[in-house]
Amino acid sequence: MPDVAAELQDDVLERFLRYVCIDTTSDQDAETYPSTAKQRDLGEVLERELRDLGLEDVELTGHGYVFATLSGSGGPTVGLIAHMDTSQDESGADVKPQVVRNWDGTDIVLPGDPDKVLRPSENPILAERVGHDIVTTDGTTLLGADDKAGVAEIMGAVAYLAAHPEIEHAPIRLGFTVDEEVGRGVDHFGIEEFGADFAYTLDGAEVGRIDDETFSASEVRIRIEGLSVHPGTSKGKMVNAIKLGARLIERLPRDDRSPETTEGREGFIHPHRFTGTTAEAELRFIARDFDAAKLEEHEQLLRKLADDLAAEEPQARVTVSVEEQYRNMKEFLDRDPAVTDAADEAARRCGLEPWREPIRGGTDGAMLSARGLLTPNIYTGGQQFHSVLEWASVQDMATSAATIVQLVKLWAEPEWAGTWQSKAARA
Ligand SMILES: [Zn+2]
Repeated sequence: MPDVAAELQDDVLERFLRYVCIDTTSDQDAETYPSTAKQRDLGEVLERELRDLGLEDVELTGHGYVFATLSGSGGPTVGLIAHMDTSQDESGADVKPQVVRNWDGTDIVLPGDPDKVLRPSENPILAERVGHDIVTTDGTTLLGADDKAGVAEIMGAVAYLAAHPEIEHAPIRLGFTVDEEVGRGVDHFGIEEFGADFAYTLDGAEVGRIDDETFSASEVRIRIEGLSVHPGTSKGKMVNAIKLGARLIERLPRDDRSPETTEGREGFIHPHRFTGTTAEAELRFIARDFDAAKLEEHEQLLRKLADDLAAEEPQARVTVSVEEQYRNMKEFLDRDPAVTDAADEAARRCGLEPWREPIRGGTDGAMLSARGLLTPNIYTGGQQFHSVLEWASVQDMATSAATIVQLVKLWAEPEWAGTWQSKAARA
């Protein structure tokens, strides 16, 4: 077998550079779907490119998703998913990527802002990539490798398969989503109409790392109604909702259970928004944990703090609402380990030694897995997401694209396809 990654390299890079120049920032506060109309700009480009490649069922939906089919020789239908939007944390407009060819291991100064420097001394993953071609921003925007690296890799892989009809592979369904970064990526994603037996998101980072575990997540809102009176004549009457909110925040655990004091498998409570007036205030928290029981403890702690406040200030009204956001996908994926095992095997066939690590966040796949479409997450080779220091190695992106090729080939092999089909027949 020729070196698929080497063959894919130029095409994946070309696609990646084309896609990152299209601004697709999503918007947390918008009420529309997708949250920003400009996400369709990339959708239209992909729709056209998929038609040019000769794929079937190519569709840009009213919700902004792009779907397509590449038929295969046999085996289960494999879904491949990546998100087109980028994070609001940094600007995604006017992205000017630079490619540092055959990187020599010295500091990379970003040309648009010389204060922004990628240093191998601070960045062990970068330090191991001497000799790679490194794509960075100019230092004034994010790059958008999250997740346009995933988009480019899926596109590169299906372009390769479309150009090599002699390669046997499982049927493929492609899905490019919108609004992943604002937590609404699959709100309108119809699993039935997508029609895959299982899927993979290409939305991870370091090559070799396969994710089968995410946080379980909820949002907790605490609303405080005080009593506003003219400050000049309010002695003994005013109940200031802002001060009550601040009192509650002061009582949060200091040495643990916060994003800034936890790592690995530890969960947290994180106040991310505090708005209000004397009369009323709202505190918004996210609660995160890998363990459902511990997530509930975090929610209970917030309820207790709210109850304490209400007890101290009987004139105030304190209400708590909890909304489940997504669940740790591991409990679902463990029901069919072959789906994740196949990703490990595809990585091995690309010369990598795969490993697993829990993601301190969520993916589209976490929500899809809970809804019945098992969807672990595969590496893309992008690094330092949501930052002006975001970067990606071209060789790593090509390895990710080659992993997709190996994965869909593997699912057409009798050994793998057979396991799935006998399982489906039993069901
Ligand atoms: Zn992402």
